[in-house]
Amino acid sequence: MRRFVVALVLAVAVAPALSSCAAKIPERTVPDITSPVGMSRSVGRPNAGRLERGVQVRSFPGVVVVNPDQCWATDETAALLAVAIEETRRAFPDAHDLVLGDISSRDGGPIAPHRSHQSGRDVDLGFYYRGKPPGRMFIPATPTNFDVERTWYLIETMLLTERVQYIFIDNSVQRMLYEHVRQIYPPKRLESWFQYPRGPRAKAIIRHVPGHRDHLHVRFKCADDDDACQN
Ligand SMILES: [Zn+2]
Repeated sequence: MRRFVVALVLAVAVAPALSSCAAKIPERTVPDITSPVGMSRSVGRPNAGRLERGVQVRSFPGVVVVNPDQCWATDETAALLAVAIEETRRAFPDAHDLVLGDISSRDGGPIAPHRSHQSGRDVDLGFYYRGKPPGRMFIPATPTNFDVERTWYLIETMLLTERVQYIFIDNSVQRMLYEHVRQIYPPKRLESWFQYPRGPRAKAIIRHVPGHRDHLHVRFKCADDDDACQN
């Protein structure tokens, strides 16, 4: 049985790098997490791969799954997702349920309408909104409806695991998130996280990909000991 450890780094650790005019980084009390995992394998690349012995992610408190048939994940992906959402709900007990879209099919491989989502590491996830959104659909985020504070907390938790390869989010939504945290984090940290405002060629984890104004797409890195997986 494989095991992995997700070490969530306290955000407060970067506080000394701040200039005196910056706001204090909120202290995050996120736990270290050690999760036993099964035997899942993410084989190949997200655009040309498959999933072996994945786990099916079902609706749980805080999450509504849209299509269970296309919600199969590696053990690590499922665990990281659960940790990020549970941590956000701990911080914001009144947060509404998140819409969880596609991950992968049971055995992976191509699924419409995606190019990736083939190897159990890609997750489509809705945003948090002000007020409870109707139904189980992704809704375009606007300055009026977007709950930037909760959505950022979720994203920040995932980033702090250091297990995220990419997060695809439309520039217009990146801008709202960036403006929310630009006074909090030092520029170097922001550059490593956000493509915004440097443009689509900049290297960063959070990248603009068209079609991601109503949800985010997070791709987790290969598990360290999954030899068949290609980042
Ligand atoms: Zn996606």
